[in-house]
Amino acid sequence: SVRTRFAPSPTGYLHIGGVRTALYSWLHARRQGGRFVLRIEDTDLERSTPEATAAILEGMAWLGLNWDEGPFYQTQRMDRYREVLAQMLAAGTAYYCYCSREEVDAMREEQRTRGEKPRYDGRCRTRSTVREGVAPVIRFRSPDTGETVVEDLIHGRVSFQNSELDDLIIARSDGTPTYNFCVVVDDWDMGITHVIRGDDHLNNTPRQMQILQALGADLPIYAHVPMILGPDKQKLSKRHGAVSVLEYREQGFLPDALLNFLIRLGWSHGDEEIFSREQMIEFFQIDTVNKAASAFNPEKLLWINAQHMQRLSPEGLARHLRPYLDAHGITEASLAQGPDLSAVVALLQERAKTLVEMAGAASMFYLAPVTGEVKDVEKHLHGQGALLESLLQHLEALPVWTAAAIHSAIQELAVSHAEGKMGKIAQPLRVVVAGRAVSPPIDGTLALLGKDETLARIRHARS
Ligand code: GLU
Repeated sequence: SVRTRFAPSPTGYLHIGGVRTALYSWLHARRQGGRFVLRIEDTDLERSTPEATAAILEGMAWLGLNWDEGPFYQTQRMDRYREVLAQMLAAGTAYYCYCSREEVDAMREEQRTRGEKPRYDGRCRTRSTVREGVAPVIRFRSPDTGETVVEDLIHGRVSFQNSELDDLIIARSDGTPTYNFCVVVDDWDMGITHVIRGDDHLNNTPRQMQILQALGADLPIYAHVPMILGPDKQKLSKRHGAVSVLEYREQGFLPDALLNFLIRLGWSHGDEEIFSREQMIEFFQIDTVNKAASAFNPEKLLWINAQHMQRLSPEGLARHLRPYLDAHGITEASLAQGPDLSAVVALLQERAKTLVEMAGAASMFYLAPVTGEVKDVEKHLHGQGALLESLLQHLEALPVWTAAAIHSAIQELAVSHAEGKMGKIAQPLRVVVAGRAVSPPIDGTLALLGKDETLARIRHARS
């Protein structure tokens, strides 16, 4: 059965390019009813940090990219790597190399002057003498002739001449195994059937295949996912905006919307743009991913997020919104005093593009408006005392507090005070009641806010 993995190196934040690779790997496992393994490749002790590992786990959990096994940590598998190294040395598929750096440099220099591509010439394959005082590295004895062919699900057939691949160092002189070797042992031990990863690793693949073959292991199927580019077609990086997945959470994107956006970068299903998590699992096919890199389009992400926000139930969306209200200092107690959060969400759902935006708009229902923060507050309210007074009277006199009744009251006032222009009434009213010059339809807003609170806010502004 299918087993895939995501194998990030914890050397920084979880990059959204990495997330897309993780998504594809996760989807392939889910679609095939297989298992998804999480492996933390933390052997680079200089660059790996516990914070980065924590951010990876947090990002994956937030996105709901749940793993069935792991997380495994390479630093905890050192004994196993040593064991396999010993087996390979015994079998002759690996050998100790005593060449000093100077010797290897000189070899390469000579090759260059002969016009050859510099490569380790394998001289220690047969050198039988141990050099006293020299700690050897271990090299893989790679085949000299023939070719190694990657039948990649995305890139198609990619072949490498074995003569181009020299004997790779698989353990350093201090005995620590090197990157390509650890990956191979892990993929083998973890029974990975499909290696789905960034195509920056495509050149490592023939070496990894050769080592797997030397170990007598079955080869996995490979799928190398292209990277994500910025809107300017350069490699996506910080200068294009957020690249860390947790920054997208901070900006108020729904996890499913971010996944929807990422799945569509370089993969399509007819003309569909919006996919639920279930549809992604149902429709995704790894072998229809584009091999060309795709450019990131922030506008589209916003649009997809808005679509997902509109499709959730108000209750479901309210649950997602809750943490963003915290940022405004809206506590459980303030929520309990205001209108039902799901009703507020239903009112705002049509317009908001992000949860951050929605939280900003929702805060007026739970916190007294800070009119002083409104841009041009004077312009909106200057000389409006009489208007506010009439508003107060009209609204106070309403026998029922519904959006329709509020609408008629404002309409009447518009006729008597503003040549029928509703906006002239609604705008100062918004500023007074919501503390902002834009809000969803004012009648619905006031209906939800409640009569007492609405009147209190107008009175407060008038005084
Ligand atoms: N640790 C590698 C990376 O973060 C991935 C290796 C792999 O998937 O084989 O780029």
